[in-house]
Amino acid sequence: MERGNALNVIFDRGIYLADLDAWLDGRVKRAQGFISHAHSDHVARHSSAVLTPATRLLLGPLLKKSECRTLEYHEPLTTANYTMTLYPAGHCLGSAQALIESRATGERILYTGDIKMRPNVMAEPAEVVSCDTLIIESTYGRPEYRFPPEEEVLEECFSTLRSWLNTGYTPVVVAHRTGKAQELLHHLLKAGFEVALEASTWEVTQRYQEAGMTFPRHFRMLEKPPKDGEIILRPPGRKKAAEADLPRVRTMALTGWSVNPSLRYRSGAATSLPFSDHADFDDLLSYVEAVTPQRVFTVYGFPHLAAHLRQRGLDAAHLDGQAVQKQLSLF
Ligand SMILES: [Zn+2]
Repeated sequence: MERGNALNVIFDRGIYLADLDAWLDGRVKRAQGFISHAHSDHVARHSSAVLTPATRLLLGPLLKKSECRTLEYHEPLTTANYTMTLYPAGHCLGSAQALIESRATGERILYTGDIKMRPNVMAEPAEVVSCDTLIIESTYGRPEYRFPPEEEVLEECFSTLRSWLNTGYTPVVVAHRTGKAQELLHHLLKAGFEVALEASTWEVTQRYQEAGMTFPRHFRMLEKPPKDGEIILRPPGRKKAAEADLPRVRTMALTGWSVNPSLRYRSGAATSLPFSDHADFDDLLSYVEAVTPQRVFTVYGFPHLAAHLRQRGLDAAHLDGQAVQKQLSLF
């Protein structure tokens, strides 16, 4: 085995490509770093940050002290050590995968961030990017996390909401405020529902509109009491703000975790459906196959995906967040 193209990948509250001095989704402040998307578990106030214009817009004042280098998809950025090019990840508006090409060795390293391969009406469609080394999220990287088709999930969602409205309840849909909430808002409006957004979700949705995203019909910010026939859309953790003092409320959580019976009602919701902004297990396997890597590292989720890939004969390892350092070498 030739070890000429060795590359150090370190997981320490984010991913560090040591030989290239590149931080990817560092969770604490670093001198520089790529931010894949606008979810808080991937963001820190780096001195200098590389991100897409939409991610910059969604993060708003959080990065006001950072020097931000916005990069459009497919626009290369060359540094002393590498060239970085961003590609859509389909996870939420502005979400990006980063292809990092070493100037010294030519090695192509792809970091996916969080990805969704299924169509997402509120994000640029994910692109398949071939690489030598793949660093991929494994949030749902266990075989039991296989999601049904989204159309089926949405049909069940709509029929449940209609039955709650018909029996005099105010339905509350619970989904993360950035990304999934806007996807669901689009689908609910298109299906004819009246929707009122909790204040923080309303603010994020305003930024989506600033970025040029449009919705099928009118919606409004939640004012209490809600109008007859209105559905409330709120994020987890905002129950009090959205529902306090409202009689006859029924909640529905939309999360991929709900395919697991033991987690289905963890949110305390009356019902839970598997609608996700992540790839499921099969989607992750298909993506690995499509980008034809020689080595795979999984992050942010279950180690089972890496084990499964090894069974298929791939060189794969899970970075477990314990500052594990892995020595990579390409054949
Ligand atoms: Zn995310």
